[in-house]
Amino acid sequence: MSQMQEYINEAESALLHTYNRYQVVFDHGEGVHLYDIEGKSYLDFVSGIGVFALGYGNKAYNDAVKAQVDKILHTSNYYYNVPAIEAAKVVKKASGMDRVFFTNSGAEAVEGALKAARKYAYLKDGNTDHEIIAMEHSFHGRTFGALSVTGKKAYREAFEPMIGNIRFADYNDIDSVKALINDKTCAILMETVQGEGGIYPGQEAFLKAVRAICDEKDILLILDEIQCGMGRTGEYYAWQRFGVKPDIMTTAKALGCGVPVGAFLMTEKVAQHSLAAGDHGTTYGGNPLAGAAIVEVFKQFEEKKVLENVRRVGAYLYEKLDEIAASRTDIVEHRGVGLMQGLEFDHPVAEIINKALDKGLVLINAGTNIIRFLPPLVITEADVDAMLQILKECL
Ligand SMILES: *Cc1c(COP(=O)(O)O)cnc(C)c1O
Repeated sequence: MSQMQEYINEAESALLHTYNRYQVVFDHGEGVHLYDIEGKSYLDFVSGIGVFALGYGNKAYNDAVKAQVDKILHTSNYYYNVPAIEAAKVVKKASGMDRVFFTNSGAEAVEGALKAARKYAYLKDGNTDHEIIAMEHSFHGRTFGALSVTGKKAYREAFEPMIGNIRFADYNDIDSVKALINDKTCAILMETVQGEGGIYPGQEAFLKAVRAICDEKDILLILDEIQCGMGRTGEYYAWQRFGVKPDIMTTAKALGCGVPVGAFLMTEKVAQHSLAAGDHGTTYGGNPLAGAAIVEVFKQFEEKKVLENVRRVGAYLYEKLDEIAASRTDIVEHRGVGLMQGLEFDHPVAEIINKALDKGLVLINAGTNIIRFLPPLVITEADVDAMLQILKECL
């Protein structure tokens, strides 16, 4: 038995089987390539589900994290620490939001956003029966609050009851949102580009119409930018393409580029009328290690002009995937924006993804029929060409 197979067997007897994992044990990475423990190289078009935006083996990033390891890893949120303060400044600057709460994950950021929205409504009218409108086919995480607003029944069913008073509207369908609004509605939550649900970009007219209703009725707009944020669409945050600013926003995944961290952010108005001292907390959230990683990530985004790269290479990828879609009858649709794209087939894609892995290309699905492309944001046109070469062989 190969050593890789031995590790896989050990994993399957020790780890809870909540993932059907691909049969590979990764060891290290360099740029946009991953290497397994046998030294085989793979071109990475997943970046750990949109996390490793700056590529692997990034010396300046590694040095920044190591320097913080040698200094101090953790203090507690009862004290101030400089990396968290610096990180708050850069996230605020990139997003234009006013206040930040750092978390350890995306789901935890969604939890905080939901609590802030309910508290905001509670302070207005003292009621405890507020409703939140979320979207069908959405994904917001696996904790109870985040799962309650995730628009996929199969994920929720066995764990009912969820948190109450959640209504689901159809994404990009303003009438279905309007039909659910009443005077208990305190927030409307959606991804700006749906990720897990199948790479569905929010339409500008829809987002603007939702923003207008929220303004009219003092309902909070919460945009989940955990997957589509951090440069993925060519702007720091996807809503910046439309100028539709949320009242509360979540971010995670590429925020720390490998160090687990997320955040929810809000406008000053929401901050002044929602979570106060004692209302919310976290032991690890915003610790110095996470802060140091975030500061270095934003530094490199600027130095490497990552947003420009995403726009240019994203457009190139779009054109090339369009060509593939046009040449095949089994491709139903090509969707996406920037370096967040999907090809929907009329059949399951697991076999294509396994073949690609065999040939040294890492791809991932979104649902059973969609191949999702989430490469590191520093990929080049040549990397896209290399990916297409292998993809075509696998189709
Ligand atoms: C991944 C994801 C989450 C959950 O983030 P975790 O860090 O896995 O908890 C929430 N929302 C969206 C849009 C995501 O893509």
